[in-house]
Amino acid sequence: MRTKWIGLVVAALVLFNASSASAWCWWNCNTAKTQYPIVLAHGMAGFDELFGVYEYWFGIPGALEDKGATVFVTSVSQFNTSQERGEQLIDQIETITAITGKSKVNLIGHSHGGLDVRYVAAVRPDLVASVTSVGSPHKGADLADFLRDNVEGGSFGEAVLSAFAETLGTVLGLISGSDNPQDAVAALDQLSTPGAAAFAASYPQGVPASSCGEGAAVVGGIRYYSWSGTGVLTNALDIGDFALGLTSLFYSESNDGLVGRCSSHLGDVIRDNYFQNHLDEVNQVFGLVSIFTSNPKTLFKNHANRLKNAGL
Ligand code: CA
Repeated sequence: MRTKWIGLVVAALVLFNASSASAWCWWNCNTAKTQYPIVLAHGMAGFDELFGVYEYWFGIPGALEDKGATVFVTSVSQFNTSQERGEQLIDQIETITAITGKSKVNLIGHSHGGLDVRYVAAVRPDLVASVTSVGSPHKGADLADFLRDNVEGGSFGEAVLSAFAETLGTVLGLISGSDNPQDAVAALDQLSTPGAAAFAASYPQGVPASSCGEGAAVVGGIRYYSWSGTGVLTNALDIGDFALGLTSLFYSESNDGLVGRCSSHLGDVIRDNYFQNHLDEVNQVFGLVSIFTSNPKTLFKNHANRLKNAGL
């Protein structure tokens, strides 16, 4: 008799636990379940995965998928213009829409990837539900200006820079399993102040008219968002902080080590001063970020929820 009672209590507990878990999940597990797939577009020298394991968006796709999102990670030329990289993205987005049966995607670009996704939205608006940039130099990057003025000046400097970047790009491409064409000088030119202005003249959607304002939140039915950081030294264990500490010295405004606060503005500016540096924005390196502020994975999950609530 006693054994029977214990069995009944255990069964009741299991049932209660299962139902409360599914109730919890109904409330919490689909917070990032957007209508359209989320497509991540990497920055300069970026990739999808190295050796098939090391992610550019460190832990971010998994964090989004845990909350119900459908996520695709794209890979384009490590060093090239946003027109060239954008065309490569369009090919991949057409595959994604075919696979998922969804007509559009939510694009999220980091760094140079933020310009790539602007290009895609401008030339193929039919494929795009929203555009989000994270730490992207829409008004150019002071470091690119410096390199343009001081390294590219001579043909030797330009050749060295080009050879270095394109070799790096080719190596990254090879170990990430792609062989897209590289053009480092064109990429650098595009991220300089005049290069970014020329790009914005051709593809102005979402770019603020003033030097540090917000851009249009909706253009042609496509929503535009951005966020970025202004932390530089955020985690003493991260070797990337040292390099970003040096590159940040080239900037006159607060910055994330590579992109200035105002230059990062696109569309609806969610926030432009998270305590994150340029690598922290994609949870690098190895997830080493500040422990005193919002985790980058949380920002992506919150944003997916924002897109979901906007019906995207
Ligand atoms: Ca970091």
